[in-house]
Amino acid sequence: MNIFMRHLLVVDMGQDQTKQQIEKGLKLYQANQTDKALHVWIKVLEKTSDPGGKFRVLGCLITAHSEMGKYKEMLKYALAQIDTAREMEDPDYLTEGYLNLARSNEKLCDFQKTVSYCKTCLNMQGTTVSLQLNGQVCLSMGNAFLGLSVFQKALESYEKALRYAHNNDDKMLECRVCCSLGSFYVQLKDYEKALFFPCKAAELVNDYGKGWSLKYRAMSQYHMSVAYRKLERLPDAMECCEESMKIALQHGDRPLQALCLLNFADIHRCRKDVDKAFPRYESSMCIMTEIGNRLGQCQVYLGVGKCLLQQKELDKALDSLQRAQELAEALGTKLCSLKVHCLSEGIYRMKESQDELRDQVVKFLQCVEELELYCGMCGESIGEKNQQLQALPCSHIFHLKCLQNNGSKGCPKCRRSSMKPGFV
Ligand SMILES: [Zn+2]
Ligand SMILES: [Zn+2]
Repeated sequence: MNIFMRHLLVVDMGQDQTKQQIEKGLKLYQANQTDKALHVWIKVLEKTSDPGGKFRVLGCLITAHSEMGKYKEMLKYALAQIDTAREMEDPDYLTEGYLNLARSNEKLCDFQKTVSYCKTCLNMQGTTVSLQLNGQVCLSMGNAFLGLSVFQKALESYEKALRYAHNNDDKMLECRVCCSLGSFYVQLKDYEKALFFPCKAAELVNDYGKGWSLKYRAMSQYHMSVAYRKLERLPDAMECCEESMKIALQHGDRPLQALCLLNFADIHRCRKDVDKAFPRYESSMCIMTEIGNRLGQCQVYLGVGKCLLQQKELDKALDSLQRAQELAEALGTKLCSLKVHCLSEGIYRMKESQDELRDQVVKFLQCVEELELYCGMCGESIGEKNQQLQALPCSHIFHLKCLQNNGSKGCPKCRRSSMKPGFV
């Protein structure tokens, strides 16, 4: 072997060596040696000539950066991965690549792009391998629709994801969908269901999660905490949030830390302890900005606005709400816009500024109409106060009491006959 050949062997990793090095990185990653793992993987990426190996190592890098909350890097690797999949022209690789693109965009709150990549995934004609990913695609699509406040489609996607989870006996997926359903029902203010689903997720972690990453436990505790806060069970909310934060800190999970800090701040706000709330909002905002969670930033501005309102700092409150509104508009999150207009309306009423008041009322009503947040049976609003809701198999949502009084006349919104309540 001449020197030139030997040089080639060093530079160009073959299939076996690639596989070995990826495994080595995984072991380091699981042992919480993230930096070392990333170093190994990036080396593989530079040196491998095997497209399958390149695809897989990009997958590792995508997952790791997602968990660290480095969403821009996550997107960068997802774009490289889809290029590799295109070169290989394999529908299974393409499906997985598009799923990772969807997820990166979901994390960066680019919800329209998320939906469109998810649709691409569902249209791919892959083998059973990619069919197994469909549940995760539906979950991501549900999260994106929830981000856009398109509630019926969000629920429809979550139901599909749950069905895939049941059919494939995929408890991790079921756990993640349950957490998302917690957020869904928090937004629609059915706080009983908002607590039920994350509790179910916590149960799954207890029953099946011995070998799972602790982040599943942390995630379910966080969602339980939010529901407890909404139910005004603040000590329970505090306890769950502390548990979640503890794990998030141990694992360097920045995205979850930001959410927990936001929730801590909200708990203190509910206790009327603004002095404790403000610094937590501030810390949360720092991380949300760093990782690029714009929806989180919008929620921080809303919380800060409510605190300032408690302190009767009307102009400062309006300022914070204005920032929330700019983000809500950019992201297409109509529910946040609705909340901003509702709060601003109250402030202008206090200030007796009639023109601005009228403007906010008009915008508020526009949001209500666009969101279709009313019960198709009684015509009253949904999501205005804590009320029990129930969805039909068509994913139209009604007050539970209205459905019970309706007998079996079918869905009044789409006239489908089946009245059997859906999964969720
Ligand atoms: Zn009703
Ligand atoms: Zn219907």
